[in-house]
Amino acid sequence: MVAPQIPPKSSSTRTRNWRTAYDFQTVIGVDWTLPKDVRIGPFVGTHYISSRSRGYSILAKIGTADIDPSRWKEPPHRAYANLPIVALSDSQEEMIDAKAMLSFTKKFGLLDNLLTSPEDKEWTGFLKREGFLEYLKEPEDRVMPVESSPSVETISREVSGYTSEQIQKLAGTQSLLKYAWRSGDERALDAIDSYLSGGLPIHFEIDEGCLRIYVASVQRLILMLFLRDHAAGKTAICANPDCPAPYFLKSRKTQRICEAGDCVGWAQRNYALKWWRVNKKKNSGEEAE
Ligand SMILES: [Zn+2]
Repeated sequence: MVAPQIPPKSSSTRTRNWRTAYDFQTVIGVDWTLPKDVRIGPFVGTHYISSRSRGYSILAKIGTADIDPSRWKEPPHRAYANLPIVALSDSQEEMIDAKAMLSFTKKFGLLDNLLTSPEDKEWTGFLKREGFLEYLKEPEDRVMPVESSPSVETISREVSGYTSEQIQKLAGTQSLLKYAWRSGDERALDAIDSYLSGGLPIHFEIDEGCLRIYVASVQRLILMLFLRDHAAGKTAICANPDCPAPYFLKSRKTQRICEAGDCVGWAQRNYALKWWRVNKKKNSGEEAE
């Protein structure tokens, strides 16, 4: 038996009653290749998240280049959570910016392989109807629909009224990940848990007393890493309101500012300003300069 990653005591609803638990060293490996000929295409696929959803597709051919996660400068869950979005004002939804998604795909791989085979009748039927069948001509062709979803602000505001089915539908989206990253809401974490646990397409082996788990998609790796780092108390939001990439991972417990961009400089200026205001108050009556 392998010791599960048991979440902290506070999250009692998420702790299952494991009868036996042994520690076992685990390593996660990636089991996909980098796609080639990556481009943006029209949205194809059923509206999974809501009937108002809009989106686009990432079209790719499966390449042969192996992925070496040790060469990623930034871990995929952090990179993904910070991908810029396009706000869809009329529907309170948001969607990952297509160009940003494209460069993410080139670096990390296809988020997911939703359309995997021309033999998949349901999808090919749909593509045929919509006139996009040309995208699935070759066995290595992939189409990954990217759909808009309720913005993270919308989720934060309305989540208490959501049913668990509604939350579950959002489990693979960037906005629910961001919401969970910000709030640590148990319902969101539960949804991500079940998303990952449902038919986990992974394979594993034991090598030199170490359990190696191979994950089949970037999406699953992102969510696994997020749950790991959340449980370890590392997920945080940068205190700089203008931070360009506010979802970050703390390297110290007390860290409030990410190390990207000018956030450290902002914090120093902010500190200096606060110091100046406090001291100006103390010396009220005197000129500050
Ligand atoms: Zn920052």
